[in-house]
Amino acid sequence: MNDNEKLLQELNKENPNDYPQGIWNEVASWWHNEVLDKKLKEERLKICNDCEFYDWSLRMCDECGCFMPFKSLIVKMKCPVGKW
Ligand code: SF4
Repeated sequence: MNDNEKLLQELNKENPNDYPQGIWNEVASWWHNEVLDKKLKEERLKICNDCEFYDWSLRMCDECGCFMPFKSLIVKMKCPVGKW
């Protein structure tokens, strides 16, 4: 560990929310809780699997053209015909 890393480690211990590691933790937490959701993905894919617009061979939605294993993981995405 170099001097800069040691300094950051010390600063982070004093004020974990004011320095890069604390900021990174916030970003990681936001990313995992609000951007990507694996449980939601599974629920959405169950709906897609029964949908007439789902292309099993490409795993794409014929309505929006998206690759569903990825789109369904992103919390803010929506089904183009309102199924989820
Ligand atoms: S996103 Fe909606 S329209 Fe597209 S395959 Fe899934 S359920 Fe069907």
